Amino acid sequence: MNSKTALVTGGNRGIGFAICELLAAQGHKVLLAARDPAKGDEAAKRISQGVRPVVLDVAIGNTEQAVGLVEEVHGPIDILVNNAGVHYDTGQSILSPDWKIVDEALSVNLLGAWQTSVGLAHGMRKRGWGRIVNVSSGAGAMSDMSSGTPAYSISKAALNALTIKLAAELRGTGVLVNAVCPGWVRTDMGGMTANRSPEEGADGIVWAATLPNDGPSGDFFRDRRRIPWCAPGRLSGFT
Ligand code: NDP
Repeated sequence: MNSKTALVTGGNRGIGFAICELLAAQGHKVLLAARDPAKGDEAAKRISQGVRPVVLDVAIGNTEQAVGLVEEVHGPIDILVNNAGVHYDTGQSILSPDWKIVDEALSVNLLGAWQTSVGLAHGMRKRGWGRIVNVSSGAGAMSDMSSGTPAYSISKAALNALTIKLAAELRGTGVLVNAVCPGWVRTDMGGMTANRSPEEGADGIVWAATLPNDGPSGDFFRDRRRIPWCAPGRLSGFT
């Protein structure tokens, strides 16, 4: 694949940082997006080759315009990785929710990804090429759902629905949209007992971000393999 320009939200640490490293190592120009400019600068310096920091808080509500400004400065963005995520709310109950946590989880994990996608998808469609990857979770698959982590699980299930809707809308335009679960990864969110490194978690995401033109769209993957969104018999997706 020719060199592309990729924007990775929440790129300053954890899986997002590993995604930036892998994309840069493949020769792509990477816009490492962080909500804190100092953290973004510091992270981009640790990779250096092909990486530029950009400031992007996906929870501020005007992300569509904010990514438009990023494109004015850095040029068209071909690959979007909606990686920023918050609140794996273990210990919370669906029947006594902390509404602040619910609100923040939906704001970052769903609306941030939605607005960022809207901000960039029109340009991708016009240019006839684009890749959007929503970093999701098995916790958002209805096939796996239990009562735990209510805010997080519901936000990721909604992100999965967003993936299907975007893929359907963009079908046949050259823009492929998929959701990827990175597995259980050693980060601030995953904790240090998780069984995967950030690089291992990032692998399937970078794969989906660099799919060939005949690649799938509107599907859900872990380790480069399809996983179910919902109960058996109710699978959906576009290929
Ligand atoms: P971390 O908590 O390590 O990192 C989260 C990243 O998101 C940070 O860069 C953080 O920035 C950024 N972020 C949070 N809120 C915002 C915001 N409003 N605007 C912009 N950036 C923001 O998480 P992981 O690296 O583990 O997770 C990355 C993705 O992978 C998430 O979507 C998560 O749900 C998903 N995932 C992770 C799993 C795991 O086991 N770790 C398992 C399944 C899915 P800052 O440094 O400023 O806080």
